Amino acid sequence: MRRMSNSAAKQTDLTIVGAGIVGLATAYAINQRYPHLNMTILEKENEVAQHQTGNNSGVIHAGIYYKPGTLRAKLCVQGVRQLTDFCDTHGIEYHRCGKLIVAVTEGELPRLKTLYERGQANGVPNLRQMNQAELREVEPFAAGIAAIHSPNTGIVNFKAVARKLRDLLHERGVEVRLMQQVNSISHRHNQLSITTPQFELQSKHLINCGGLYADKIGQMMGIASEIRIIPFRGEYFFLRKESHHKVRGLIYPVPDPSFPFLGVHFTRVLRDSGFGVEAGPNAVFAFAREGYRFGKVNLGETLDALSFVGFQRLAAKFWRTGLGEMRRSLSKPLFLRSLQRLMPDLQADELEPGGAGVRAMAIHQSGEMVDDFYIVDAPNALHVLNAPSPAATASLAIGDHVAQRAAGLFGLD
Ligand SMILES: Cc1cc2nc3c(=O)[nH]c(=O)nc-3n(C[C@H](O)[C@H](O)[C@H](O)COP(=O)(O)OP(=O)(O)OC[C@H]3O[C@@H](n4cnc5c(N)ncnc54)[C@H](O)[C@@H]3O)c2cc1C
Repeated sequence: MRRMSNSAAKQTDLTIVGAGIVGLATAYAINQRYPHLNMTILEKENEVAQHQTGNNSGVIHAGIYYKPGTLRAKLCVQGVRQLTDFCDTHGIEYHRCGKLIVAVTEGELPRLKTLYERGQANGVPNLRQMNQAELREVEPFAAGIAAIHSPNTGIVNFKAVARKLRDLLHERGVEVRLMQQVNSISHRHNQLSITTPQFELQSKHLINCGGLYADKIGQMMGIASEIRIIPFRGEYFFLRKESHHKVRGLIYPVPDPSFPFLGVHFTRVLRDSGFGVEAGPNAVFAFAREGYRFGKVNLGETLDALSFVGFQRLAAKFWRTGLGEMRRSLSKPLFLRSLQRLMPDLQADELEPGGAGVRAMAIHQSGEMVDDFYIVDAPNALHVLNAPSPAATASLAIGDHVAQRAAGLFGLD
C-alpha cells in the first residue's frame, strides 16, 4: 500500500518536495520507469501548481532563445513534443497560435538574426524570417520592420497539465500530500528524516523541486550556499475583450541583451477562466518570494536577498534597469509606452489590471545569473536549483532527465 495515513509511522523510498510542474513531471517520469518504487510528494500549498506553474504566461516555447548545447535548449525542444503529445493523449486543450519576434529598429536587426540562427541551431521547426509586409499579414496590428515567425509556438494552461499529472500519479498510487511544508531535513545512517509541521517522514532519497524555495531546501541539506533564489515579479495587464482581435497569436520584442527576461509582450492565454489576451510581464524585484503584489513585504526574505553578495554584485550592474522596471510597475502610462513599441495604436483604456507571477531567478555569489537549468547531486538527493522559463514547456523532458540521473545516483535499477 503506497498511500499513508497522517498518523502512521512514515517511510518512503523517494520523496519529492514541491508539486509544481517540475516536481509532478519528475514523479511521473520516475513512476513510469519504476512503478513499484514507493514515492511521496510533499507540497506546502492546498493545491498543486499554485506558484510559478500556475501564474506564468502559458506559452509553449519553441526553443529559439537558448544557447545551443545548453539543457534549456535541448530540453525545451524535446519538451515541446512531449508536452503536445501528452495534451493530445489526455485531451488537454492547447493551440499552436504561432509567435512573432519583432524588430522595431534597425539596431535590433543583428540580434534578430542571431535569434534566428540560434533557433535553427536548436532545431526549432519551420522558423521563417519576415519583412514588414509579411509580419503585418500575420499580425496586422504589430509594428516592426522585420520579424521571426515561429508557427510551432503555442499556448496551454499549465495548471491543467499539472492537475492531469497529479491525477495520473494518484491513479498509480503516488499521492501528493498537500499542506505539508518541509521545514527540516536531516541525514543519518544513509536515510533522510524529513519534517513537516504534521509529521516526520523517513525517506531513502529526495528530489528537491521547490521552485522559489529550492535554495532554502538545498540549504537544509548543506548545499546551495553559493546561490540564492531572488524573486522577480512579472505583472500583466489584460486586454479588454473588444481589443482581443488585435492579437492573433504571440507578439514579442527582440530581447534587450542587458536584461535577462524576454521583454513585455502580447500573449493569447488559456486560463481556467477561459481564453484571453495578456500584455506583460515586466520583471520587478519582489520584496517577498511569494510577493504577488507590490505591497507584499517579507522583511526576512528581503534582507536575505539584499545581504547576499551575489545580489549586491548583480544590483551594482543592473540598478538602473531595476529602478526603471520599478517605475514602470507603478506607472500604467510607462507600461503602455513599452507595449506601444510593439503596437503603436494601443490605448490605455484597452488595458485592465491583470495578475502577476513571481519568477525564481538563481543568482550565483559571483553576481552572475545562473543561465541554464541547474541540477545538483548531493548524498541521497538531487536538487533542481534553477528551473526558469521555459521549464514549464520543458517539464516532461526535465522529468526524464532528472529520472535518468536519479536512476544512476540512487541505484534504482
Ligand atoms: C511570470 C512568469 C511567466 C512565465 N512564463 C512561462 C511560459 O510562458 N512558458 C514556460 O515554459 N515557462 C514560463 N515560466 C517559467 C515556469 O513557470 C517555471 O519555470 C516552472 O513553472 C517552474 O516549475 P517548478 O515546479 O520548478 O516551480 P513551482 O511551480 O514554483 O513549484 C514549486 C513548488 O514547490 C512548493 N514548495 C516550495 N517550498 C516548499 C517546502 N518547503 N515544502 C513543500 N513544498 C514547497 C511550492 O509551493 C510550489 O508548489 C514563467 C514563470 C513566471 C513566474
